[in-house]
Amino acid sequence: MHVYADNAATTKMSPVAINAMLPYFDKIYGNPSSLHSVGQEAREALDAARDTVAACLGCESREIIFTSGGSEADNQAIISAARIGARKNKKHIITTAFEHHAVLHTLNKLEKEGFEVTYLDVRKGHNITAQQVADAIREDTCLVTVMYANNEIGSVLPIAEIGAVCRQRGVLFHTDAVQAAGHIHINVKEQNIDMLSLSGHKFHGPKGVGALYARRGIALVNVIEGGAQERGKRGGTENIAGICGMAAALKDACDHIDENMPRVAAMRDRLIEGLSRIPHCALNGDRVNRLPGNVSFCFEGIEGESLLLLLDAKGVCASSGSACTSGSLDPSHVLLAIGRVHDVAHGSLRLSLCEYNTDEEVDHILKVVPEVVSYLRNMSPVWRDLQTGKRQYIL
Ligand SMILES: *Cc1c(COP(=O)(O)O)cnc(C)c1O
Repeated sequence: MHVYADNAATTKMSPVAINAMLPYFDKIYGNPSSLHSVGQEAREALDAARDTVAACLGCESREIIFTSGGSEADNQAIISAARIGARKNKKHIITTAFEHHAVLHTLNKLEKEGFEVTYLDVRKGHNITAQQVADAIREDTCLVTVMYANNEIGSVLPIAEIGAVCRQRGVLFHTDAVQAAGHIHINVKEQNIDMLSLSGHKFHGPKGVGALYARRGIALVNVIEGGAQERGKRGGTENIAGICGMAAALKDACDHIDENMPRVAAMRDRLIEGLSRIPHCALNGDRVNRLPGNVSFCFEGIEGESLLLLLDAKGVCASSGSACTSGSLDPSHVLLAIGRVHDVAHGSLRLSLCEYNTDEEVDHILKVVPEVVSYLRNMSPVWRDLQTGKRQYIL
């Protein structure tokens, strides 16, 4: 049996999305900026895709900019808010300690330019509260950027409440919704979101394409300079096929959230319950407010990398926080941020499901993970020390 349980890393494209892309490779191949009819056909497709994405988010079409993915959208949102803030001498930004690197590394760059960043503590409940945001806002705060849902541990943040706080205090609010779009109902107006990032390949669309929603009136700064595409805010000939594939995938995902997500969540809960029986383990992430497909555990006394390789050999594709930045052996910043110590953070496993997964696959995972964990523990000198009492269990 082959089980793909790494949907937080990327997803397989849906037939709907593939079919939506095909005409734009060799039939409607024009450049939307061309004035002739071939170009105008592409322009119409681009406009229609923008309308679709806007409808899925509850905003206006002109508030959507297409980008090369979630990372670019995060960069553009944060840099734009920083420039707006700097003009008013507001150079304080609030975020969380468990954001994606597209957000954290952009903020690190701004810190070197003199911005001050507050990283909200995520140890309690592996989440933040709107009160924490309210308490952190200062006179000179120009931006709150917190993710909608965490890609490693699945916590879903109280976005509507945070949006209400930011709107009331007059602070721009950006959310990296790459893990939420297509999985959770989003309405940027009702939730008082000023800017939002999403990415096609996390909801069965293509890779290399994403979108940034920016509320009308927010002066975006270009990350990619070039022509007048995307209202002059993102240069480069539009990736029409990718954009149409992403729009179709997003609409398909949003139209089916109510039927797909309870099914996915039921598989998630069965995995969480079954894997919790493994001794000396801990669930990572918010137990209640959690992405429907996310299962994240730390197992004491093992290495996440070995676990992944053995699981792959048994037909299960999963991921581990520590392997995230490939080539680096540092444990995941997310697991450290929620308070896991290094040794424990190294033994992490993330399984991320989608609507294509089945109950039989869940059974297979529930059979092989406990086997592989005990196999690795039996070979581990650390585990021996724990068992003989030479070392104290943490979990
Ligand atoms: C995948 C991901 C991104 C990056 O999106 P890309 O389209 O791959 O650039 C950003 N944020 C989160 C939370 C993600 O999961």
